[in-house]
Amino acid sequence: MSIQENLKKVQSQIPSHVCLVAVSKTKSNEELMQAYQAGQRDFGENYVQELLTKNEQLPKDIRWHFIGHLQSNKVKQIAAFVYLIHGVESLKLLQEINKQAIKNNRIISYLLQIYIAKEETKFGLSFEECDALLASSEFAELKNVQLKGLMAMASFTDNQSLIQSEFQSLKSYTDALQNRGIQLPILSFGMSGDYQLAVACGSTLVRVGSLIFGERNYSK
Ligand SMILES: *Cc1c(COP(=O)(O)O)cnc(C)c1O
Repeated sequence: MSIQENLKKVQSQIPSHVCLVAVSKTKSNEELMQAYQAGQRDFGENYVQELLTKNEQLPKDIRWHFIGHLQSNKVKQIAAFVYLIHGVESLKLLQEINKQAIKNNRIISYLLQIYIAKEETKFGLSFEECDALLASSEFAELKNVQLKGLMAMASFTDNQSLIQSEFQSLKSYTDALQNRGIQLPILSFGMSGDYQLAVACGSTLVRVGSLIFGERNYSK
């Protein structure tokens, strides 16, 4: 199947209120353009250098989602144009994003990354750490960043009931925060292997790569 057909298929399987971010890391401009020509505008990238090159070469109405692990010293390179930063997991990083947003005279939207997996390798804040961050005076001072929601990755496993329980724990935590008056319109979870389960568990944004563009080849 072509990229356009893959895209249409994924789109047909998610409700219209759910945003589909096409994860294009390692994929060529030509491959991205096939999705673009099929109407796709939200793309996700993990690596700053690759994102910079693509942003320079590809159409300006693309909304670039940074979904990788962002180092503080690289924020300034993407601050002028990034649409949404998904993986924020420290006050330090958030302060740097705020600083660069001020320099660029804009408000940068972001998601806090929450750790839900039963693995030591995944990044993110625990629920308690997230509560503490949201309650801190340093957080309240940041005026050029806007919290849009939460992002998470489930365990890397075939065990669907484990993934489901991890997604549900994020959804319950989000509901609890919303009940305290914190607006979180975006819940970013679900990838190629689990996006339908994610949507059923309340995801409003899925990040799908290999199902649209094919398997990634990191050796290129
Ligand atoms: C690579 C990546 C994806 C896409 O993964 P697929 O399994 O190819 O859909 C989604 N989210 C993050 C954070 C990623 O790094």
